[in-house]
Amino acid sequence: MTLCANCGKPLDPLPPGSYPRPPRRFCDRACNAAHMRRRHLRGLAVIDAGLYWRKSRDKQALSTLCYLLDQFNREDRAAGRPLTPKPATVRARRVG
Ligand SMILES: [Zn+2]
Repeated sequence: MTLCANCGKPLDPLPPGSYPRPPRRFCDRACNAAHMRRRHLRGLAVIDAGLYWRKSRDKQALSTLCYLLDQFNREDRAAGRPLTPKPATVRARRVG
């Protein structure tokens, strides 16, 4: 059973041949918007720490980055959200 990526509720299966073709990830538009807003805010929180750490290898920056990521995982677990999927490889995810 597929769970909503935002609220963790089970998604009703779509009848065969119905739209959208890829499996749904969210209950509705509100869950989709909340998920994307949370990803945006989390990205803003970690990008500076991640970029700074990668350049400097400063232990405090890495500690901050790990703290933020742990906090996000705790929030997701507390909200009953499914695990964040394993990221694609760098080659597949290349942007810009
Ligand atoms: Zn939902």
